[in-house]
Order: sequence, then C-alpha cells, then structure tokens
Amino acid sequence: MDRIKNVEISLYQVPLKKPVSDAKVLTGRQKPLAHVDMLTATIETNHGAVGFGFSYSLRAGGSALFAHAKDLAGELIGEDPNDIGRLWEKLAWLGASVSRTGVSVQAIAAFDIALWDLKAKSAKVSIGKLLGTYREGVPCYNTSGGYLSASTSEVLENIDASLHRGLGGIKIKVGQPDTKKDIERIAAVRQHVGDSVPIMVDANQQWDYTTALRVGRVLDQYHLTWLEEPISAYDYQGHARLSERLDTPIATGEMLSSVAECGELIRHNSVTFIQPDAPRVGGITPFMKIASQAENQRLKLAPHFVMEIHVHLACAYPHEAWVEHIEWLEPAFNERLTIKDGLMLLPTQPGLGFTLADQATQWLAHSVKL
Ligand SMILES: [Mg+2]
Repeated sequence: MDRIKNVEISLYQVPLKKPVSDAKVLTGRQKPLAHVDMLTATIETNHGAVGFGFSYSLRAGGSALFAHAKDLAGELIGEDPNDIGRLWEKLAWLGASVSRTGVSVQAIAAFDIALWDLKAKSAKVSIGKLLGTYREGVPCYNTSGGYLSASTSEVLENIDASLHRGLGGIKIKVGQPDTKKDIERIAAVRQHVGDSVPIMVDANQQWDYTTALRVGRVLDQYHLTWLEEPISAYDYQGHARLSERLDTPIATGEMLSSVAECGELIRHNSVTFIQPDAPRVGGITPFMKIASQAENQRLKLAPHFVMEIHVHLACAYPHEAWVEHIEWLEPAFNERLTIKDGLMLLPTQPGLGFTLADQATQWLAHSVKL
C-alpha cells in the first residue's frame, strides 16, 4: 500500500528581473510587482516516490499561504496519495472555517499538484498524458513584453523578440487613466505586427462597464483574439453584456478562486475564453471540474500565469486553448519549456516535469518538514 510518509513545505520569494506595472498600478490601486511568493510542497511516500507541487501569491498573502499549508500538512501523513479528490476534500473541510476559496484553497493547491505529480510519475507519463491530451503543444502568447511599465517603443521591441523566439501571440496591457493612450498603443502594435499575429488586450479590471463598451467598440477594428478583464472580475452579468455587444471575444476568470465562482462565468455566458488559474482555484482537481463545465459550454480556455502547470492542462482540453508565457518563475526551476512555431510543447518528463534549482535556496523565506 502507498502511504504518505512525510511532507515538506517551503516559501520562496522569487524576484522579478525588473518590476512590472499593469493598470492596477496606474490607477493607484497597487504598487509595481517585484517578486512572486512561491509555496512549494514535496510529498514523499513509504516507497520513496516523491511528488512536487507549487502555488503562489503576488504581493501580500505568501506568509498566509505558508501558515495555512503548515496547519494542513500533517493531516496528509499516513494517507494513500492516490486518493487525490478525497484528500482535497479532507484539507478543504479542515480549513472550512476560513472559507473554501482564496488562501485556504490556494494552500491546498500545492499539495494537490504534488499528488498529481506523484501519480503521473508512478504512471511514467506527464500530468497532461495522465489526464489525456488532445494535442502535444498549445498556442502560447507572451505577456511579459506588454506591460504598462514599458514605453510603446519598448513594447514593439519586446514583440519582435517574442515573435523571433517562436511565441505565437502578444498580450498588451491597457487600462490607463487616459483611454486614448490605450487605443493609440493597440493601433501602433497592430500596425507593427500586421494582420496575422494574434493580439490579446488586458485591462486588469480597471474600466467601468460604459468605458469598456466604448473602448471595446473602438478596439473591435483591430481584430483582437480577446479583450481580457475589461471590468470587475466578479461582474458576471457585465461581462455577459459586453460579450453580446462587442465583436471582440471576452476573456476573464483569473481572479476567481473556486469552482463555484468560475461556474458563475459559465452560467451567465460571460466569456468566450475562460481563464482559470490552477493554483488560485485550489489545484488541478478543482481546475478539471471547471474545465469540464467549460467544455460542455464549448468555451475556449486560456489559463492565467504558471505556464509550467497550465501547459499540461491546456493540452488536455478538447477545445481551443492558449497558454500564457510569463517567465517569472523560470529562475526557480532547472527545466525550461520548449517553444516552437507558436506552440508551447507538453513536457515529456513524467509528472509536472519541474524540479527546484539550487539557486532557489537564496530566496527561501520559510520551510518545515513534517
Ligand atoms: Mg490578466
């Protein structure tokens, strides 16, 4: 019988090469992002098999993730690591007093992903293959080059570099206090790349409905692949109304942190592209429940951030799927994803396909082994 023998959790603060700003900074709501808090879980069985998973937080919340994971970790000892769904429920009920969304499930995500890594490794296949893939690689687009902290000329240089690297699309951040500047930037980008390069535009929730409709109508002429988070992440009806009125497909979902919240987007016909984030919703187990509902509505999938996890999940999604290329966590890992001809390829190693790099120890903030 497989049994969990020990569990180690660690919190790393992985610095960004250069702080970045999206519209939430320009509207004064947040400061530029300078590092990512990464919560890792390493689960070892009585047979010496090891699973590795991670979750994350941007800005505040990393210490809370670690503290909650520490409260839960001991409850996994002695359990059968194959019973992933049951263990997810056990951990969620333990933390039910502090909710079944947000920090409590985001701490569970690190364990859940480690358990999927363990199961895929024991089957000697990638997590994508364990779930069952529809493709060996997914279209990927670059977000890192299109932040508002970069000037338009820097953005155009970044775009050239991204396309040269083989990335398939480009995301541009908007949501500046002066919407004219946003429109000028998108016009300049479309003119620069021509008609055939997919462009995604992301307002990070900084518009109200009226602004989103007015700017969205102007942006319709630029044939965007999607318009992301035009309004508040929780305005399911508002996104549905924009979806009805604009030619540009609407995308959102990255800020939601449960199956139930993502289900509201589906129930209200809010989006063409749904953007769940596996660590934010509690791991691969809840992500697949969202993917199943989304598949049924024939939605397209564009998960948020953590390409290291999402490349597996996007390859296992039956309809159109994209992966977001953000390289922030690359320095923490030994492995690199392969990008070719606009696609991010499914890792061929068993499991998640990622191991912590030695240099990550310099960013270690907390660690405990149970
Ligand atoms: Mg976004």
